[in-house]
Amino acid sequence: MIHGEIHQNVRQYINGRWETSATTGVSANPSDTSEVVAEYARADRRQAEAAIRAATEAFPHWSHSTPQRRADVLDRIGAELIARKDELGLLLAREEGKTLPEAVAETARAGQVFKFFAGEALRGGAGAGGGENLASVRAGVQVDVTREPVGVVGLITPWNAPFVIPAWKIAPALAHGNSVVFKPAELVPACGGALAEIISRAGLPAGAFNLVMGSGREVGQALVDSALVDALSFTGSTANGERVLQAAATRRAKVQLETGGKNALVVLADADLDRAVDCAVQGAYFSAGQRCTASSRLIVEAAVHDAFVAKLRQRLKTLKIGHALERGIDIGPVANEERLAMNLAWVEIAREEGAEHVWGGEALERSTPGHYMSPALFLAKPSHRIAREEIFGPLASVLRADDYDEALALCNDTPFGLCAGICTNSLKHAMHFRRHAVVGMTMVNLPTAGVDFHVPFGGRKGSGYGPREQGRHAAEFYTTVKTGYMLA
Ligand code: NAD
Repeated sequence: MIHGEIHQNVRQYINGRWETSATTGVSANPSDTSEVVAEYARADRRQAEAAIRAATEAFPHWSHSTPQRRADVLDRIGAELIARKDELGLLLAREEGKTLPEAVAETARAGQVFKFFAGEALRGGAGAGGGENLASVRAGVQVDVTREPVGVVGLITPWNAPFVIPAWKIAPALAHGNSVVFKPAELVPACGGALAEIISRAGLPAGAFNLVMGSGREVGQALVDSALVDALSFTGSTANGERVLQAAATRRAKVQLETGGKNALVVLADADLDRAVDCAVQGAYFSAGQRCTASSRLIVEAAVHDAFVAKLRQRLKTLKIGHALERGIDIGPVANEERLAMNLAWVEIAREEGAEHVWGGEALERSTPGHYMSPALFLAKPSHRIAREEIFGPLASVLRADDYDEALALCNDTPFGLCAGICTNSLKHAMHFRRHAVVGMTMVNLPTAGVDFHVPFGGRKGSGYGPREQGRHAAEFYTTVKTGYMLA
């Protein structure tokens, strides 16, 4: 596809057929709002329910398919995503606004996720072994413990990583023999549609995978409420996650939530300051700060506080903000008008509550009409709202800490618990931090954002609920355990 030339028409994919809906919506390019990226069908509750019924009917067939068949399907999807990473990355950069290199890398990683789970279908997928065989405590009895698919899973995803987050839900769901109803975020229908189109040609039985696009309130809620949906995996804001959890709990559906973050990067006096600044820039500002793992709190030991802030300010001045497809750009636009307004409101809040402005935080004009802003940096106090609440944009706060102990205490003084990083050359502090940061993931001398696809991902406290995603641990959510007794 040539930039700006063609827009996509995206339909629902239900029971193996592409369907229109009574209403439609459009997605626009956040780098150039005059460009429509996709027109898409907006499902209503009735279509969501049809998708759920199709998944229910497909489940007996797909859940008893051979591990080889599942592995082949997932491998085909992964291979196509990787082969088309440039073209699909372009679509992602146009629709979501991350820079082209970031978008191409995300697309390739989504492919790798499918390939990893192709292997999992053979190694440890439900029905593919990986269970336990034990001697019974009773003479003459044998016991085994096996894993089975959960059933119909509803997968609800946000807009900020529209290929890889769906991949890390859809791939393990299918690998373990579940049938899927996938609801992407409304900002990114073209990415959801492109992924569904690849999956539709991969060899699944009709109904094993369904795409329904529409509002969270209507289509998402239909998945949450349906007694036929056995498990729900939700990634999005903490407030919506809590709604999903409460509604699902009343009907005992299995739930997995990946929600907000307020991740800290601690910089100790003995750190390599250039590396620390690199980690801060990448973690706090790349992808326009629109990552759940973004380092929005930079907790810096007093002895290097001023030097770190000066170096970071210097780096922020050099960052290029512009059209996501422009070569050499560091940061693209934020996702939409509403996000830009919210970020600028946070800048106002920071000023009103007395945080010291260091750099940025202004709306920018470029040659195309887009949602551009300069990366913002403030010196804050731990009580300031900008240091406590998730912003999900290119705004970070620096907090001063007297020593390591205070830095760790500040790091853990948050309702969130997704990821925490430390820059230090002290093995003692690095090891202590890894053990005592109350989060799901830790980083030493690395940015808080940027993870591997073959190991668990997720958080604690307000950042997550239920079993982790990705890697072998994904089986905990996408399978259920059965214990079998037999008289030998
Ligand atoms: P959001 O909560 O607005 O929407 C997420 C999804 O939920 C969308 O598909 C939306 O349509 C749907 N939804 C909304 N209301 C619903 C309801 N009542 N029932 C069912 N579905 C509903 O979040 P967003 O703005 O798309 O994404 C940004 C948020 O996602 C941030 O808070 C960010 O931290 C979080 N996030 C978390 C992770 C993680 O792994 N922890 C990863 C990426 C993003």
